[in-house]
Amino acid sequence: MKAAKELKNELFYTKKNVYQLTDEANVKAAFDYAEGYKNYLDNAKTERESVTKAIEIAEKAGFKPYTLGQALKAGDKLYYNNRGKSLFVFTIGSENIECGIRISAAHVDSPRLDFKPCPVYEDSGMAFFKTHYYGGIKKYQWVTIPLAIHGVVTLKYGTNVEINIGEDENDPLFYINDILPHLGQNQAKKTLGEAIEGEQLNLLAATSPYNNEDEGEAVKLNVLAILNEKYGITEADFLSAELSAVPADKARDIGLDRAAIGSYGHDDRVCAYPALTSVIDNADSVHTLMCVLADKEEIGSEGASGMQCSIFPDLIDEISKALGADSAVVRANSKCLSADVSAAYDPNFKDAFEKRNTPELSCGVVLIKYTGSRGKGGTNDASAEYIGWLRSVMEKDNVIWQTGELGRIDLGGGGTVAKFIANLNIDTVDLGVPVISMHAPYELISKVDLYETYKAFSAFCKY
Ligand code: MN
Ligand code: MN
Repeated sequence: MKAAKELKNELFYTKKNVYQLTDEANVKAAFDYAEGYKNYLDNAKTERESVTKAIEIAEKAGFKPYTLGQALKAGDKLYYNNRGKSLFVFTIGSENIECGIRISAAHVDSPRLDFKPCPVYEDSGMAFFKTHYYGGIKKYQWVTIPLAIHGVVTLKYGTNVEINIGEDENDPLFYINDILPHLGQNQAKKTLGEAIEGEQLNLLAATSPYNNEDEGEAVKLNVLAILNEKYGITEADFLSAELSAVPADKARDIGLDRAAIGSYGHDDRVCAYPALTSVIDNADSVHTLMCVLADKEEIGSEGASGMQCSIFPDLIDEISKALGADSAVVRANSKCLSADVSAAYDPNFKDAFEKRNTPELSCGVVLIKYTGSRGKGGTNDASAEYIGWLRSVMEKDNVIWQTGELGRIDLGGGGTVAKFIANLNIDTVDLGVPVISMHAPYELISKVDLYETYKAFSAFCKY
């Protein structure tokens, strides 16, 4: 008979962390890879900037713009830019397209504060921009932190003006007021969710009047005069604008060992970046590969730039048609990794998690069979066969992976783009990086988890 210890080694599944399972070279590669990611983060705070930066990276690797209806051949490296807000980067493999496409789909929108259509107003010597929050935020986290403004304003005759204020160290910043603790007794009695209300998320824009004049609304006028001088815009131009307040900080190493990264927008750039770079780095794969960088995931994947838009199946149709294939067959044989983050176990909030089934920081890429809420409501529940296939693929490249679900049962829940892709008859499972403080203005991830995610996507592209 075998000794218990030996048999346990054979039969038990034990989660181990990446540092224990891999060598120094792997950790070094992870830290090197993280530098490129941090650069991406600092230049991609909105979906538009993420798409622009991704195109820059793809073009550097020889990818060319694709137009619907274009002829295609094996070896092509292309990207389809959807309205500057979502992106499809794809290669045409040498095998028959009816063997399917390997799709990795991430999203590049993150929770933030969008400007309302009529944002500017003045009250008591202060001018503000009114905002409407986008995505799931804890409102109290957005007061008294440095904020920057990113976005575009479309002028009456269609010219786009790009705005980015607060990222250069010489730029001014923006700010949302909070009440001092000395006068905060009424606020302190409220629940955390009610302490700061949506209509209080007003961005401080100026505190001095135009030309020092004692004229009504001169502080608001000052805001508009400064914007008009710099960008040529007037108050009416806000009606055709997409401006957002986002945290102004840069991505930085966290901890004495520099093993983690703090940043705004890890959800979901921390999956978008490895999904993109794995397709670029494996462009010579026999498979046809596609990386999707979608918009609007944080508000339900709706609209023309969201994952539910028909442009995604349309593209598969167009690619199939150009190669003389039946797109229904292509979709039936395609495989997808829905590349999104998961909630990492947080020892400061033990009650929120069921530890056996929660991903832990530095234990590798997370494979999530199902998301949803309550009785798995609203989830793509990936099949045993598909997960089994993926396990064997990751094994080939020694990818360190772990399983997970989104916290304790009945405590809340969430979803990803997975179900919208699976609904098109494409096997799909969620795979991504565990995040601490998800949706906070400054989130945290581990560098080795990021790198194992890149290795997982790469193996998916290759085998
Ligand atoms: Mn996400
Ligand atoms: Mn999210």
